[in-house]
Order: sequence, then C-alpha cells, then structure tokens
Amino acid sequence: MRSRKGACAPVAGPLTITYLPECNRNLISRGSRVAWSILERLGRFDGSSNLPYPIAMDRERACRVYSILEGLYGDPGSPRTFLRFENPFQILILTILSARTTDRSVNAIRDRLFSRYPRPEDLANADPRDVEEIIRPLGFYREKARHIMETSRALIERFGGRVPERMEDLLSLPGVGRKTANIVLDHAFGIHEGVAVDTHVARLSRRLGFSSGRDPARIERDLMALFPKSAWGNLNYLLIRHGRTTCSARKPSCTTCPLRNLCPSVTGPFEKKPVRREKSP
Ligand code: SF4
Repeated sequence: MRSRKGACAPVAGPLTITYLPECNRNLISRGSRVAWSILERLGRFDGSSNLPYPIAMDRERACRVYSILEGLYGDPGSPRTFLRFENPFQILILTILSARTTDRSVNAIRDRLFSRYPRPEDLANADPRDVEEIIRPLGFYREKARHIMETSRALIERFGGRVPERMEDLLSLPGVGRKTANIVLDHAFGIHEGVAVDTHVARLSRRLGFSSGRDPARIERDLMALFPKSAWGNLNYLLIRHGRTTCSARKPSCTTCPLRNLCPSVTGPFEKKPVRREKSP
C-alpha cells in the first residue's frame, strides 16, 4: 500500500501552477477562469499549465485541514474506497452503478452481478432484463443497465477487453464522467489525474472554503490548484469520511468538529484562528 503520510506538506508538491497574491486574485480571476475552462475542455486538467489560477484560500491553511483529516481517517489499513472490488472491470462497473445511490446498496448487489457476469464479454452479451432485475434496487436501473452493458461492449471492441488507463479513453465510455474516471484511475491503477467530486466532496469543499463553485468541474479545478498532486487521490476519501461522520448535509456537528477553528463556515471567510484571551485576574 502506498504511504499517504505527508502527502500534503504545506509547501511541497509537483504543481507548477503559479499562485497569485490574494490582492491580485479579483483582477484576473475572470479571465483566468475562462482560460482554465478552455484547458479543461482540451483535457489539460493535470496541473501542468503555468497559467495563473486564483486559488480559493491560502494553501497552508488548506494543508492544515488536510493534515487534521489525515490524522482522523488516514489509517494505513483502511481500504480507502467504500466499494468492494477485485479488479479494474469491477470498480468501473460498480462506480457507474453508484450514481445517485449509496455505496452500501451497490455492494449489496455486487456478488450476484459478478458471479453471473464476471467479465466484460459476459456483461456485453447479457439479457438486459436479467441485468435490470439484479440492479433494480439501485434505482434508474434501465439507464444503468444500458450503460454498463454498452461500456462492456466498448471495452471489448475498442480496448481488447481491458479497462483503459487514460482519462480521455475512460471518458469515451457510456455513463463515465470525470468522477468515475478519477475513481477508476486512482483505485485500479494508482494514477491521479484529478479529484473525484461527489456530493460529499462538493459540500465539504464549499463549507471548508476550498471552492465557492457549485459545478463539480469547477470544484475539481479549485481543489487541484489548491492541493499538491500527491494529495488528490486521498482527498476524496478523507472528505467523504468527514462528511459521513461529522459534516453531514442536514446537521453538521460544528461544535465538536476538529476543523472548527479552520472552517470558514464557523470562523467566517478567511479569518485567522481565534486567539484565546487570558482572563483578567
Ligand atoms: S466546522 Fe462544521 S461546517 Fe466546518 S467542516 Fe466541521 S462540521 Fe463541517
């Protein structure tokens, strides 16, 4: 297992993005964001550009948050994914199926699905009604059955029955967006091309001040600019864990949260950690 300790050292990291002083951010933020949107469409989403990018908060503070989360949830023995899988094909199919449902529901049907259809060629030639019946508890089962069967066909016809290891190839598969592609690349191949942004990651990124965006692509870009590449894969896991245990959508436990002194939702935007005053004698 790869070591995750020190993945977000405050100043280290392979990003070559030029960071701007706070006072310059507003001046160029608009043009810069447009330019980054173009890079995004061109697939240049890997932090290899020297284009200035207006980061949402200071990097040191973001890395302090990361370090606390890693201390809380970064147990080296943890599987780092919530889906049970044994090979790249399984994580790809399970991640497609996990859209708009819980990982627990997906894990509940995985044994039945893969005992009957263990390989792409099995799923590609399956009876759609049988696949729909197996995945019915997940909701949107007709659409999902079509996606996983078409994806299996595409794997056979275009990739020799193997799951591709490149972002653009994964994005060409039916039902696969950047979130799914990032998860597959990370867990199946140990490749970090971006940050998988699901509902937990989006919510916590906004609450913690990592991003002010609502669009997952914008949030991902903000996270990639803020954190070194070595932290991208783990960030998804840490934010999901914190979202599930403490920072829930409806009722975040801010009073007991270990991040409360760093979280703009509590301290206000970009305020320094409150200094405790000594009581006068
Ligand atoms: S302080 Fe509150 S809003 Fe901020 S991360 Fe913790 S639980 Fe979430």
